[in-house]
Amino acid sequence: MRELALISVLSDGRFHSGEVLGKMLGVSRAAVWKRLQGLALYGLEIESVRGKGYRISGGLSLLSEEAVLSFADLSADALDLDLRTETGSTNVDALYAARERLVRPYAVIAEYQSSGRGRRGRVWQSPFASSIYLSLAVEITGGAAKLEGLSLAVGVVVAELLAAHSISDVSVKWPNDILVRGKKIGGILIELTGDLDASCRAIIGVGINGALPAAVEIDQPATDLQQELGLRPDRNQWVGQLLSALIAMSEQFSEKGFSNFQRRWERFDSMLGRSVRVIQGEREVHGIARGVTERGALLVETEGLIAEYHGGEVSLRAI
Ligand code: ATP
Repeated sequence: MRELALISVLSDGRFHSGEVLGKMLGVSRAAVWKRLQGLALYGLEIESVRGKGYRISGGLSLLSEEAVLSFADLSADALDLDLRTETGSTNVDALYAARERLVRPYAVIAEYQSSGRGRRGRVWQSPFASSIYLSLAVEITGGAAKLEGLSLAVGVVVAELLAAHSISDVSVKWPNDILVRGKKIGGILIELTGDLDASCRAIIGVGINGALPAAVEIDQPATDLQQELGLRPDRNQWVGQLLSALIAMSEQFSEKGFSNFQRRWERFDSMLGRSVRVIQGEREVHGIARGVTERGALLVETEGLIAEYHGGEVSLRAI
């Protein structure tokens, strides 16, 4: 990324004049100005004050592999970690790396995603150095069939981490959303590669909003760690803790599946006992949410009968 040197200088949150920036980068003031304009594409907000120069208000703390691992409770050979300044999608990177059998879990983290993804081709807003974009590839033996509840188990791990940081009113929405005070703070995207009947890899994609710039537009209520904690989160710490928790979860899940997580899911289930709509393409069913099965399927009661719904094309909404 060409602008990284410029971003690194501005990450201290102080003002730097165009002239000084130009000298540092070996380019003209006009070229500096052009590059600063370009930073808007990454979702970075550059403040410009006549006579003072340019700054990123509040500064930025950048990710570092060393710092992430210092917060992760993992043995030295437990993980391969790949930090990217800029990428299309960390899930795509992890899918690529997981074409072959993995010796150990492999994680990609990034400062910025140009094509962050949600379910079914939806976009995940991923501004530079403000949030957590993490994809962890893990080896799954015994076939993909048991993976139905994996997205929910990841949701439990993320919700528990938020609660452990004293964030209140944390909830999960089947199958892949993490909410705080009813607003979306994170999302999960699970993808698979390999032989789905035998040995395959699951890519566990997690996005958690850290400190969203005001200019980022999200078409549903959203929040971030900064708002909920009242301070800018240390992303290295969050990523480190998240990686340890996800690796421990994947080992447990690989042995016993979702059943161990069912009760833990209930603690955060935002829909339990509520009137809901289940949307499956053109089809819509209204009923009362009755939790999830021990495999992670959604249970909804309609006219006294409880039906199971399985991930993929199904969306759930409160009425
Ligand atoms: P479903 O219930 O079917 O999963 P969803 O709206 O939660 O529906 P996802 O694919 O899980 O869909 O997430 C993508 C959606 O999340 C986007 O369409 C957008 O509305 C919202 N979104 C995008 N970026 C962010 C973000 N950084 N933080 C919170 N929400 C976001």
